[in-house]
Amino acid sequence: MSLYKTIHPGSTIGIIGGGQLGRMMALSAREMGYKIAVLDPTPDSPCGQIADIEITAQYHDLKAIKELAMVSDVITYEFENIDHDALTWLHENTYLPQGTEMLRITQDRETEKNAIVHLGVPVAPFKIVNTEHELEDAIYQIGLPCVVKTCRGGYDGKGQVVVKKISDIPSAYDLLISSKCIVEGWVPFEKEISVIITRSPRGEVKTFPIAENIHVNNILHQTIVPARMSEQVIEKAEKVARTIADGLGLVGTLAVEMFYVNEDIYVNELAPRPHNSGHYSIEACITSQFEQHIRAVCNLPLGSTELVTPAVMVNLLGEHVDLALQHIQILENSKLHLYGKKEAKQKRKMGHITFLGKDVEKLIQTIEVSPIWMEKAGVKR
Ligand code: AMP
Repeated sequence: MSLYKTIHPGSTIGIIGGGQLGRMMALSAREMGYKIAVLDPTPDSPCGQIADIEITAQYHDLKAIKELAMVSDVITYEFENIDHDALTWLHENTYLPQGTEMLRITQDRETEKNAIVHLGVPVAPFKIVNTEHELEDAIYQIGLPCVVKTCRGGYDGKGQVVVKKISDIPSAYDLLISSKCIVEGWVPFEKEISVIITRSPRGEVKTFPIAENIHVNNILHQTIVPARMSEQVIEKAEKVARTIADGLGLVGTLAVEMFYVNEDIYVNELAPRPHNSGHYSIEACITSQFEQHIRAVCNLPLGSTELVTPAVMVNLLGEHVDLALQHIQILENSKLHLYGKKEAKQKRKMGHITFLGKDVEKLIQTIEVSPIWMEKAGVKR
């Protein structure tokens, strides 16, 4: 008997995490006729607003995890930092087709980097450190500039310090309080790109068109598709993503973030779920990353990822939302997504807009002159 079941429409998909990724997964699943249950600590979360069943509790609350399991035919997740005990219980007692191994590996930058290296895929030089002395030693060996990151729990640049000169080193000491750290050599990248890849239990693998990503203050600002790079590099990046997906036995969706420099690709990090840099696929591809993820988790055949139109996706952070609503006329050739979050805090991802058109340079120009994203200081290109 196959280990994998096919989950038919009409069944209930349980999602751990009620943020925007869960919401967009749920919207796709609902279109396909599935029901949704979600677990999130915040009542009326972005996903909770559109779910059939909303369970409000902490992720490590085993009683709530069991409640989710009771009402769901299959379980998936929208974020990777799920409590280990909860995960083990789910794996042993429910249907979790993505398993626990990918999460175990990607929850910790040390295991993640080692797994990537083991597959023969290049990464920036790195060292794992536990003490201030080891940190200084590692920086001495790797050289400046470098970046120090906590091995666990960081996101959107949180838990990271860039060390450009010796006097910056003490600013990284605090990171060691919460977790061991990784010291990484700085990659003077020409571009940041990502490949979203999905693998189904039946072994089908599909990649989405490669995304060119521009970050501002370590938060994704803009994704441009197709990425403006040579066919050769695109092939190389796809091959790297396939090597990782096959090597780590992926089921579901994985985002592989990469640096491109001098015709070479270095993997920066992995996210075992749909990803912000794949939001463009909702309108620009035949199948979106969210629908593809649901198809994979339910063991349905994967859909075509063909690009129907070039697209530029731009994030709306807390500081952009009012401006976006004031300048709504910009939306003629674009699609507005708001995630239903209550409080528009600075830097909080509140929504995104995807601009669609034949000429990405023109789309980029429209965004450049738009008053919505005037704060552009620190744009990394
Ligand atoms: P991360 O949380 O690892 O994705 O890092 C956030 C952002 O910091 C990345 O998207 C890059 O813009 C930058 N960054 C992280 N690590 C490096 C590195 N080793 N070299 C150059 N830039 C980096």
